[in-house]
Amino acid sequence: MDNLFASLTSNGIKKIQPYHPGKPIGELKREFGLKRIIKLASNENPLGPSPKALEAIKNMDTSILAHYPDSSGHELKEALTKHLQVSSDQLILGNGSEDNLAMIARTFLRPGDDAIIPQYSFKTFSMIVNAADANIITAPAKLGQVDVEEIIKAVTSKTKLILIANPNNPLPTWINSTDLEHMLSNIPQHVMVVADEAYYEYINNNPDYPHYPDTILLQQQYPSLITTRTFSKVYGLAGLRIGYSISHPDVAQLLNRVRSVFNANSIAQAAAIAALGDADYVQHSLDSNRQGLRQLETAFAEMGLSYIASATNFITVNINCDAQRAFEFLLSQGVIVRPMDKHTLGTYLRISVGTTEENDFFLNCLHKMFEEKSLNC
Ligand SMILES: *Cc1c(COP(=O)(O)O)cnc(C)c1O
Repeated sequence: MDNLFASLTSNGIKKIQPYHPGKPIGELKREFGLKRIIKLASNENPLGPSPKALEAIKNMDTSILAHYPDSSGHELKEALTKHLQVSSDQLILGNGSEDNLAMIARTFLRPGDDAIIPQYSFKTFSMIVNAADANIITAPAKLGQVDVEEIIKAVTSKTKLILIANPNNPLPTWINSTDLEHMLSNIPQHVMVVADEAYYEYINNNPDYPHYPDTILLQQQYPSLITTRTFSKVYGLAGLRIGYSISHPDVAQLLNRVRSVFNANSIAQAAAIAALGDADYVQHSLDSNRQGLRQLETAFAEMGLSYIASATNFITVNINCDAQRAFEFLLSQGVIVRPMDKHTLGTYLRISVGTTEENDFFLNCLHKMFEEKSLNC
């Protein structure tokens, strides 16, 4: 590692591959002379935040901005306890749920410990394990499915943490309650398990996915299970950075020790309370997403492209040619998508579901791409 101070940091931190957030929209417009950019790259809600959340922000007394936010997050936790039927000592607020995940790694991993991550998992997992200078143990997975048997097999006396995104991202796979319980009942009690449920609202109560696990209920039997959720996805508040974890109170008490004291800002707390109270808007967003998914799936099927069935607001599709070049072509047309890892999923693109019109625009560009001979698609 070519860094003047590398010898002063841990091996884990040296291993971290920094996250590349992509070009800002303004720069793209200038570079390609485009009027309009469609971003289908970060699984945000294309309809934006609930009008009630916007109203709550507008109605805020701006004098509170000079004060530190409520560190205990009292009102938001109150709202969450009612919404989730949990007690407030089970909740920890995060600056986005990535913050909650980082707190969990900081609390339960010591240098040299092992953390198990299924193959094709959420990128943040490996970053937080490396930051704790712990070892990443990759449990092999199939493209369409996390294999819990492989996770169970990977557990050793060094294992301290298992990280599972359910549903996962960048592959929108999920684990049903039978498999999750099978895993939980076949690992030692002292191994902490994270169920990262960023896409919970899309899959829970979805008739297409009847056996999605109730991890809050499972925590009563398996107290080492921690659930994380977020306001970044269906609630449309990604820019405000607000998420939370639900756990046994004793787990929460430890997490609270490593939490940055004012990690959830005042605007985010107020907007989250309002968003949580707008069930109609969540339903509207879910309906729109289901329609958009169907639109993309139908088009991919017509084009003969295979994709991974999605319980989320994104779809991962095999375009059968170099995804990086496809990404660059789509960029030149004004559509931002996400190419998958070039070593393992080099012909896959991840597309966030947009509005009907955004999806149409993207599909037109995709057709154009397949006609472009120089791309070999
Ligand atoms: C988007 C996403 C998150 C949410 O991150 P925030 O920090 O809450 O914005 C967490 N986990 C997965 C798997 C995600 O895709």
